[in-house]
Amino acid sequence: LLTVRGLRKSFGDNTVLRSVDLTVERGRVLALIGPSGSGKTTALRCLNGLETADGGTITVGDDVRLDFASAPSPRALATLRDCSAMVFQHYNLFPHKTVLENVLEGPVVVQRRPVADVTREALGLLERVGLSEKRDAYPFELSGGQQQRVGIVRALALRPRLLLFDEPTSALDPELVGDVLGLIKELALEGWTMVIVTHELQFAREVAHEVAFVDGGTIVEHGDPAQVLRAPQHERTQQFLRRLL
Ligand code: ATP
Repeated sequence: LLTVRGLRKSFGDNTVLRSVDLTVERGRVLALIGPSGSGKTTALRCLNGLETADGGTITVGDDVRLDFASAPSPRALATLRDCSAMVFQHYNLFPHKTVLENVLEGPVVVQRRPVADVTREALGLLERVGLSEKRDAYPFELSGGQQQRVGIVRALALRPRLLLFDEPTSALDPELVGDVLGLIKELALEGWTMVIVTHELQFAREVAHEVAFVDGGTIVEHGDPAQVLRAPQHERTQQFLRRLL
């Protein structure tokens, strides 16, 4: 479903992505792990057009292909953005909108789908994550775990081909992490295609079909979670995992 080749991105003199290659098949889950500052978040943001890469290509399915050798048109970027939905570390809900309004915003305003249909779907999704009674609450009235479940519902309501998670549990109190990880695991079992940046190695081992270790703006090692996490081949992966254990 997703193919990335030679993706590059710099901020001024700071080259953050040197050359990132990755492939994610439909229905598969890829976990990106790696040290702070290695470029994981930037890679994810490039995948859904929140950042514009400086070089390389991103292909989604048979119909979306962006070549960053030249600056992409706003229309091409919009097409890329439509393919995926992002779940953020800090939830990024609109603070002045209710839970339901947060979920409806993208499908109604951006995708221009009929309000009645989208509302029905949104209420079903909120019920699924146990937040029906919070539909008219504001984000500040919710716990972090509840806000992140709204963040996930908001992403699902866009009906994306690809779900992108940027450290979805790292801002949560430890006792709230399990619920959110459980929900992501359910989505994986349902066959959603996902790329997850995470520091939760146990979760990556359980949920991901593949793990990629990112360091210095490239993918140093990539493969089966059991292999990459238990018997890494590369020295840098070994060092990173040793520090975490
Ligand atoms: P972490 O695990 O800490 O989130 P990461 O691997 O996700 O790290 P990135 O957030 O992608 O790393 O950041 C990589 C580098 O890019 C950092 O040096 C950061 O300062 C820089 N960077 C990221 N976004 C921007 C930006 N918008 N402008 C300038 N520099 C940026």
